[in-house]
Amino acid sequence: MSYEPIYFDLEELVCPHVFNKYGAMAWQFLDPRLLKTLDIIRTRIGKPMFINSWKEGGKFDERGFRCIQCDIVKKAIAEDKLYVSAHMLGQAVDFDVLGLISEEVRQWIVKNQGILPYAIRLESAVSWVHLDVRESNEKKVTFFKP
Ligand SMILES: [Zn+2]
Repeated sequence: MSYEPIYFDLEELVCPHVFNKYGAMAWQFLDPRLLKTLDIIRTRIGKPMFINSWKEGGKFDERGFRCIQCDIVKKAIAEDKLYVSAHMLGQAVDFDVLGLISEEVRQWIVKNQGILPYAIRLESAVSWVHLDVRESNEKKVTFFKP
């Protein structure tokens, strides 16, 4: 069952490879838990959030769903590395919030974790916010290092 978010366009959530091939059908690749969580955070934090920017000619195109034609994945395959990322399962995004550094956003999420409908993971100590819904334990917010 898919969920179309209020605040985010599909192009912000998938790479151009997938968007160009599947169009609106690509919603099916995104975990509804992730999409609902993003809408709830966006509503409560009250500031613009930025994921992919490729539609407007920006540099970000791998911050949401990643396919095997995306550079990060292609590089891992070329180097014969294992690559298992929540981004490839439609369960992760990297984002920024206007006017806040990533650590402030992570602290805001921890402080406001009561609003979260599902358990999430946040990547520690990176200059963007990585959020995914891969975790399913009882803790609302789990931090991880890559
Ligand atoms: Zn791709």
